[in-house]
Amino acid sequence: MKVARFSVENAIHYGIVDGDELVVLSGDPMFAGFDTTGERVPLAKATLLAPVIPRSKVVCVGKNYHDHAAEMGGEAPTEPLLFLKPNTSVIGPGDTIVRPKQSQFTSFEGELAVVIGAIAKNVAPERADEVIFGYTIANDITARDLQKLDGQWARAKGFDTFCPLGPVIETEFDVDGGRIETRLNGKVVQSAPLSDMVHSVADIVAHASAAFTLLPGDVILTGTPAGVGPFVAGDQIEVEVPGIGVLRSSARDA
Ligand code: MG
Repeated sequence: MKVARFSVENAIHYGIVDGDELVVLSGDPMFAGFDTTGERVPLAKATLLAPVIPRSKVVCVGKNYHDHAAEMGGEAPTEPLLFLKPNTSVIGPGDTIVRPKQSQFTSFEGELAVVIGAIAKNVAPERADEVIFGYTIANDITARDLQKLDGQWARAKGFDTFCPLGPVIETEFDVDGGRIETRLNGKVVQSAPLSDMVHSVADIVAHASAAFTLLPGDVILTGTPAGVGPFVAGDQIEVEVPGIGVLRSSARDA
């Protein structure tokens, strides 16, 4: 099931994608279940929004694909390397990434994103599915120059607009059979099976929830494969995970 958050006629709703229509839900399905209002909205009339606004945090995993760790000049860490992005960095599908004046080198990082659906603390890997609401797509935008300059990654990863999310949450996604592909102005720049992840989604949920309590609506970015690179104002970036959709973003300078 594909869950969307969308606006139509100045009101924000949640809905289930059904062909070229949205079946309108009576509330946020993460908290209110899947009761419908009886209304349907054509997808063409709706503006899709970030399908979730992370309740408290976006947890990210660094260097979770061997080939990306190698291109960054190292090896994948033996345990998931965690960092955070603020929820104020989130934008929706079709929104514009703003390249801040402080950075001369902004990079895309296409990633599978896990949407947490229950309060989670010390979750065993084999029980991770119980706290996962579904999956969406993210672009872990990074000011690469500031990442190197600062040492700490909070600023380089945390600017406003640096976390495009969407277009929808797929509640029944099969990670093991999945792929991810990033295109820059139509050219494929990243392409990998999700099975190339060093640490599995279950292990990441376990590792992250051993450190922080995860809340419903928190999001975990699972790392990016090789092929990261710079983008500039005017570029179009697409991250596709078949079975979930395509997350499209444009870019401009501040
Ligand atoms: Mg990343």
